[in-house]
Amino acid sequence: MAAPIKPETIVPGISASQGIAYGQIFVFIQSDVEVPNYQVDADKRVGEIGRFEKALLATRQQITKIKNEVEKNLGAEEAMIFDAHLLVLEDQALIGETIREFEKTGRNIETCFNQISSRYIQAFAEIDDEYLRERAGDIRDVAQRVLQNLLGQAENSLSRLADKRIVVATDISPSDSASIDRGQALALVTDSGSRTSHAVIVARSMKVPAVVGVRDLTTRVKNGDWAIVDGYDGIVILNPSEATLFRYGKIQEQKKSFESRLLQANDQPAVTLDGVKVSLLANIERVDELAMVKDYKAQGIGLYRTEYLFLNSARIPSEQEQFIAYSTVVKALAPLPVIIRTLDLGGDKPMVGHPNLFPKEDNPFMGFRAIRFCLVHTDIFKDQLRAILLASAYGKVQLMYPMISGAEELAKANAVLAECKAELKARGQAFDEELEVGAMIEIPSAAVTVDLLAQQCAFFSIGTNDLIQYLLAIDRVNDRIAHLYEPTHPAVIRTLKQIVAEAHRHKVPVSVCGEMAGDPIFAPLLLGLGIDGLSMSPAWLPSVKYLVRAMTMVDAKALAAKALTMASPKEIYAMCDAFYRERVKLE
Ligand code: PEP
Ligand code: MG
Repeated sequence: MAAPIKPETIVPGISASQGIAYGQIFVFIQSDVEVPNYQVDADKRVGEIGRFEKALLATRQQITKIKNEVEKNLGAEEAMIFDAHLLVLEDQALIGETIREFEKTGRNIETCFNQISSRYIQAFAEIDDEYLRERAGDIRDVAQRVLQNLLGQAENSLSRLADKRIVVATDISPSDSASIDRGQALALVTDSGSRTSHAVIVARSMKVPAVVGVRDLTTRVKNGDWAIVDGYDGIVILNPSEATLFRYGKIQEQKKSFESRLLQANDQPAVTLDGVKVSLLANIERVDELAMVKDYKAQGIGLYRTEYLFLNSARIPSEQEQFIAYSTVVKALAPLPVIIRTLDLGGDKPMVGHPNLFPKEDNPFMGFRAIRFCLVHTDIFKDQLRAILLASAYGKVQLMYPMISGAEELAKANAVLAECKAELKARGQAFDEELEVGAMIEIPSAAVTVDLLAQQCAFFSIGTNDLIQYLLAIDRVNDRIAHLYEPTHPAVIRTLKQIVAEAHRHKVPVSVCGEMAGDPIFAPLLLGLGIDGLSMSPAWLPSVKYLVRAMTMVDAKALAAKALTMASPKEIYAMCDAFYRERVKLE
């Protein structure tokens, strides 16, 4: 009797790396190292610490080897993950506490190290910040390696994939994903994880599709099961039917041809069919994103979110440390402009481990955030302003304040900047005397006082992420009301129109750096409303540029004019979507 045909099942997850793969599944089971627990005789204690040091050294050598391989195969950017791992090995608190625990209890070093590292992993895992939570994974990964080395066990590796397979795992640590044989993984799927997890970063750079957050998939499949991984829609289709396979074959062809069209546009100028040049810039959070900014030919950086330098640091970075980061970006882009935004800490981005600086608030998005924080902690603010000014000597820097609510606040920030300039002059250090200062327009009170702000700044950048949340009173991270967060709400479109009108009346250029700018469905609407530039995640640049090259500004203006007469956010969205589809022709 023939084996029963298994029914097709669609399992939803989160799209993490684009592309479509079809093949058989390999279930990768990671098991934690089993740690023996025993008392070490007093005369063997010196040797026990020596054993620990040897294991740390071996771990360092292994990680360095993987790092070098990744750097060779994937590039320096991906290899930086392993710098974070090497730092874990140097963490004096972790190592020192392990040795102190051993001296106190006399239990074997594996037990002490396991106990202390688990405590660290748990502390990080409980932090209410996605990025830092994921650092728990870094420590876990390194700790498992150290334990394997202490116990003389072989490396847990994915390098033994015999055939091309879809790798399904509860999670994939950076060293696991780095050891995957490049040609053998068709796709990566994980039960846990988010778009920013390391496995995803590696999957993207390997250019294989990835879907994460698929809950308990590892328990529902077994080796050899057939599946489609749809990295565009973030779904896994188990046991796909013939009809589904046929449909996906067609989708795959379409997407491939569209992607090759996108890449062709990448090298062309961002000019509309009727000859209007459009400025397309990149948003970055970290220095390691520079490679992508260059690959996707951004005309500069429209938003450098400097708070990420602080979020991942145990202490406030010094003026010198900040200068190094900012000047690296500025030099890499010169002569293209870099808009460095001053600290936007607080809100959903508090600095963990500093409860005195960021006490818990009931309403953090309306709380002690960004420029409000900086104008109170002027010592921290001034260190940053001086670092930005010093970096301005190395290229074209523009400085931008976040969360400006009115002209007085802007004047206060500018006064602190003037003090910093005077201090640098007194020190005899160079900076760009012509440095332009701009304000983000992301609070409704700023949007309605653009004329007043225009007298004190050289450019505006609209932060639609925040502007929409404050205008519509929709918390941008609350998923219960996410459906009400509508960029095409008439209030948003009218406000954008007014900002542009007032800014231009005062001859001040205005761009958009919120997520709306990087969505090819909204970009024509923004340009039609008169926005001068769009700044977005580097990965979106090719799609937006492709659309710019396929449309006329006359049509974009007509689209915006029509949108301004409409009442329904859904209908405005449908109109923008149709505008996009007509021009992109996805067949
Ligand atoms: C915005 O609010 O649109 C913006 C670009 O800033 P952030 O997302 O960093 O708050
Ligand atoms: Mg903002």
